[in-house]
Amino acid sequence: MKSNLLKVKISDNAGFCFGVRRAINLAEETAGKECKVYTLGPIIHNPQEVARLEKRGIKILNDPKRVKRGSIILRTHGIPFNLHKKLEENKGVNIIDAVCPFVKKAQNIVKQLSSDIKSKNKTIIVVGEKVHPEVIALVSYGNDKCIVIENEEEAQKFKDKGDLNIVSQTTQTPENLNNIVKILRKRYKLKVYNTICKATLDRQKAAEKLAKKVDLIIVIGGKNSDNTTRLAQICSEKTKAYHIESVDDIKEKWFKNINSVGLTAGASTPAWIIEEIKNKIKNIKKVIMKVKSKEKK
Ligand code: SF4
Repeated sequence: MKSNLLKVKISDNAGFCFGVRRAINLAEETAGKECKVYTLGPIIHNPQEVARLEKRGIKILNDPKRVKRGSIILRTHGIPFNLHKKLEENKGVNIIDAVCPFVKKAQNIVKQLSSDIKSKNKTIIVVGEKVHPEVIALVSYGNDKCIVIENEEEAQKFKDKGDLNIVSQTTQTPENLNNIVKILRKRYKLKVYNTICKATLDRQKAAEKLAKKVDLIIVIGGKNSDNTTRLAQICSEKTKAYHIESVDDIKEKWFKNINSVGLTAGASTPAWIIEEIKNKIKNIKKVIMKVKSKEKK
């Protein structure tokens, strides 16, 4: 018997990456033990998950100076060096360090290069987005030796006297890093520290592969999440794609004449949102069939 249900396939690596899962687990463990728990800004770029954590008593903090007592969770992207130091000086505050170990690795490289005697006079190029919190934090570890380069155009215009060290924002694409390195290598002696995290790349590759096989792909994640927006862009080059945040954003009309649907999700999208959406979509074809049979009567 032919099924009326849509075929729904979830992409490999969809949803939480290692760093985000670790941060959420740390937040939940802390909320279970203490009554005043804060995060510096939203812990991840997913409004629904942030709202769920708020119900568990984890509040978003904009001004850490106002906290006299309690635990402050540092988010995966990291925070500027001086702000971290200031938090440590407040003895009433317990710092829960949820900075992703991959981000920390990049921070440690920058910190070491900026203080190492052999690298003392070399500029540290950070390949990344100037306004991204991860890059702002990374630069703060560099003792004024960092310069951020976002793209090939900026690499062409860049001028400096000495040799260069290069690190990267963890979520940069290897293409952008390689292109910038190629341009700079023509004029400078370089040492490249590849600090790109594979989690983003693996998710993008898996989503692209799935997008080629389905009639439609739904990309789930916060509209404020850069990695989800990029995922939607990659998928839309291969098939019809919609970027949604929650089950309420789904429109039945998207599924007319569609037999197979792919689902993927950004690194900040929890499994419970993916599951809710999968179940709703799976039943949509049934709904369409019912409406049609009523129309016939
Ligand atoms: S994307 Fe990579 S670097 Fe960023 S939080 Fe996840 S695991 Fe860490």
